Amino acid sequence: MKNILVTGGAGFIGGNFAHFLIRQSDVRIINLDNLTYAGNLDTLASLSDHPRHEFVRGDIGDAALVERLLSQQRPDAIVNFAAESHVDRSIDGPAAFIQTNVLGTFNLLDCAKRYWDGLEGSERDGFRFLHVSTDEVYGSLGSEGLFTETTPYAPNSPYSASKAASDHLVRAWHHTYGLPVLTTNCSNNYGPYQFPEKLIPLFIHKALAGESLPIYGDGSNIRDWLYVEDHCRAIWRVLEAGSPGQVYNVGGNSERTNLQVIDTLCGLLDQLVPGSPHRPHAQLKSYVPDRPGHDQRYAIDASKLKRELDWEPRESFETGMRRTVQWYLDNNEWVRRVMDGSYRGQRLGSGAD
Ligand code: NAD
Repeated sequence: MKNILVTGGAGFIGGNFAHFLIRQSDVRIINLDNLTYAGNLDTLASLSDHPRHEFVRGDIGDAALVERLLSQQRPDAIVNFAAESHVDRSIDGPAAFIQTNVLGTFNLLDCAKRYWDGLEGSERDGFRFLHVSTDEVYGSLGSEGLFTETTPYAPNSPYSASKAASDHLVRAWHHTYGLPVLTTNCSNNYGPYQFPEKLIPLFIHKALAGESLPIYGDGSNIRDWLYVEDHCRAIWRVLEAGSPGQVYNVGGNSERTNLQVIDTLCGLLDQLVPGSPHRPHAQLKSYVPDRPGHDQRYAIDASKLKRELDWEPRESFETGMRRTVQWYLDNNEWVRRVMDGSYRGQRLGSGAD
């Protein structure tokens, strides 16, 4: 692969993927992102003059733009990260989730199919459409069991329902038209460049400011945490060696309750910021009413990816969290710049209009 169209590459995972590809490959990236509140050019600042990175501001739902990009840039693959991604925001305003995650993905598939139809020989055989999705499409687990690639879909939030719909479209474009698609369903990511509305960067931000840390419900909800660089490596591996039409689950083997995540984070801040007036940071914990429809547990069985493509996470939860907390401490200026819009750390998606 020499030339890849990455969508949503000014966001958290897409931005990390752009940095990863520039570091680990000689691929050229066309980065299409319409810069919602979650997309920030500050994330791509060090790539702004890079000869193998070109940023294009635009919407994945804009058919004329996507068609023009495909015919002019002639990518070997499309990797679709672009999405509305925050469950709490999907509770307050689901329309944007349907627009981008469902209709936007439809438009990308429609344009990709026409482009692929016009390719020949090895260009046609080698083309890939990789769709980045979530484990949330599988619904909620009890205390036992893991999501596999054959777990029936049972999305519970407007966010996960919109991602499930997009996954079904991707699947159908393979079965009906033969488009060489790949789908990855991943657990919760954490690491550098995550917009501080999500649990880990939000709580680092609040703890450093001495604000209370609002824990939803009793804090017992469980997620499987994956360091974002491990996710980027998995996507790259699937893109290079995955079989078209296949789905791959990506997980971190790191199930933690929200309370465990918050205690780890507070302990790291106590160590790494010894002069903080808010130590011990765990004293800032507070309990607030739960998120409506809050799924209890997600856990991924990533054995297919290990067995077929020899991928497994390299970072443990402890090492990944230490790197993450240190990154936010070292990049306070990035946090300040991305938080200069309408979001100031307030609670979203409580269900109380
Ligand atoms: P993010 O919200 O940080 O970034 C999304 C990016 O998409 C932003 O840069 C935004 O500007 C861009 N975007 C949104 N609408 C667009 C549109 N219509 N056209 C072009 N660009 C648009 O999200 P993220 O956490 O980086 O997630 C990336 C993908 O990975 C999403 O598809 C998400 O569903 C999936 N995913 C995320 C996680 C996670 O833990 N963050 C886990 C599993 C899967």
